[in-house]
Amino acid sequence: MTILPTTMQQTYKSRIVYDTDVLRQKCEDAEPDDVDDIVQLLSEELKHHFDGIGLSAPQIGINKKIAIVNVFRPLVIVNPFYIKKAGKMFLEEGCLSFPNEFVQVQRYKNIIIDNRIAIQGLGHRQKFGFPINGCCVEEIELECAAVQHEIDHLFGILFYDRKVK
Ligand SMILES: [Zn+2]
Repeated sequence: MTILPTTMQQTYKSRIVYDTDVLRQKCEDAEPDDVDDIVQLLSEELKHHFDGIGLSAPQIGINKKIAIVNVFRPLVIVNPFYIKKAGKMFLEEGCLSFPNEFVQVQRYKNIIIDNRIAIQGLGHRQKFGFPINGCCVEEIELECAAVQHEIDHLFGILFYDRKVK
C-alpha cells in the first residue's frame, strides 16, 4: 500500500494498466514527436510510486516503444534493441502492473543496447551492467535488470516469463 499526502490523493489518478491482454501487445516504434510528451507522462506517474524504478509506455496505456528507468540516474529508452547480451544473474523483481507479486527471474548481467533516443540518425549505444565509478555492484545490476524488464514490456513480455524454473 502506498501512502500519499491528502492533497495528492484528491488529485492523483493512477494511469497504470493492470490488464494482461493489453500488456501482452507489442508496441509500435515511437516517432520523434511522441517522446517528450510520453516521457513526461511516465515521469509523472513514476513519481507516485515510491517503490518504482522503471515504467514503460504500455503500462500507462500507450502502445509505443518508450520507457524510463531511474535507479541511480534517470534514463530514457526509445525504440531499443539489443546489440549484446552476456552473463547471467538472478534477482527478485516486481512490476507496477502486478502489485505485490515478486518473482525470482533470470537476467543478463551485461547488456549493450541501441537506444534510439534521438530517433533520427544513428542510435546511441548504451552499456549496462558494467562498472561505473562511484556506483556499487548492486545498483549497477539493478539498473541493468530494470532496463531489461522495461524493454520486455515494449515487446509484450512480462517479468514472470523470465521466472527461474
Ligand atoms: Zn513491469
